[in-house]
Amino acid sequence: MDIQQNVSLSEHTTFHIGGSADEFVIVTTIDDLVTAVMRAKKEKKPFFVLGKGANILVGDKGIRGVVIKNETTAFTLEGSKLTAESGVLMSDLIGFTAKKGLSGLEHFAGIPSTVGGALWQNLHFLSPDRSATCYISNVLESAELLMEDGERKHVDREYFHFGYDKSILHTKKDIVLSAKFELTQKEPSEIENVIDENLKWRAEKHPRNAAHTSAGSVFKKIEGYGAGRLIEQVGLKGHQIGGAQISEVHANFIINTGNATAKDVVALIDLVKEKVREKIGLEMETEISLVGEF
Ligand SMILES: Cc1cc2nc3c(=O)[nH]c(=O)nc-3n(C[C@H](O)[C@H](O)[C@H](O)COP(=O)(O)OP(=O)(O)OC[C@H]3O[C@@H](n4cnc5c(N)ncnc54)[C@H](O)[C@@H]3O)c2cc1C
Repeated sequence: MDIQQNVSLSEHTTFHIGGSADEFVIVTTIDDLVTAVMRAKKEKKPFFVLGKGANILVGDKGIRGVVIKNETTAFTLEGSKLTAESGVLMSDLIGFTAKKGLSGLEHFAGIPSTVGGALWQNLHFLSPDRSATCYISNVLESAELLMEDGERKHVDREYFHFGYDKSILHTKKDIVLSAKFELTQKEPSEIENVIDENLKWRAEKHPRNAAHTSAGSVFKKIEGYGAGRLIEQVGLKGHQIGGAQISEVHANFIINTGNATAKDVVALIDLVKEKVREKIGLEMETEISLVGEF
């Protein structure tokens, strides 16, 4: 395993923001993932398992301890059951299962995510008719975890206590090694249609400028109100601090216009919370995790 020192994390997050990891290791097999975690535990170093870095803001002072970048890639199909290592990109699984006529993952087309990150957050998107929410937990059958105590264990879906933007992984430092999904047979063309519609929806509703990077929706939705709508209501759409801007296209996105720091993003987050509390009386909570030192 190649352990590197002082590696900038900005290239390893979709925001393209963040300081350095004291130690950084890329793992490509589950055995190496387990070894890297167990080594950090043995050396009593803090560690952080990183997927695509699509749901985090890393502080400008970086992350102390070891960042373990999960680039495992293997997956297998048995009938309609798909087992994937936790570093596999959801986009790879979506392309593969669509061709096989297996439905269940197509709802998440266009969302940057590894399997591990998807379980951590209970990846979700609107149903094809936009009347309900599809969650990754709907198709999860079981997973193999490296438990907090170092034991490798298979658990079923119930173990995760999934909710909206929530799973047990938020409070317990278990590491997902692999996940098994139970999919259903469908015409490949029907699945492709859902993928196309979802990609179209994203292209229309989300910021598209490739130079303007983000971590997706910054705030959790508040039932009955859209987070983006609340931000618009308090007049902050388009507001910029340093290099960070509340997107003109979708107010729940904060974009890095090129040289944003984590401090800029946090200042915008605090401003949104303050204005929404003051003017509307609601408490906004972040959906993205703030990781490391700011
Ligand atoms: C443009 C854009 C659009 C988005 N749209 C959506 C959307 O529609 N719906 C949605 O739900 N999300 C959306 N997101 C957010 C993001 O894509 C998801 O939350 C995704 O699941 C994050 O996965 P990741 O691999 O990047 O996780 P990371 O950001 O790398 O990590 C997130 C958390 O998961 C933990 N983690 C990662 N791997 C493991 C593992 N193997 N075991 C245990 N913990 C692990 C990390 O330690 C961290 O705490 C969007 C993001 C972007 C940038």
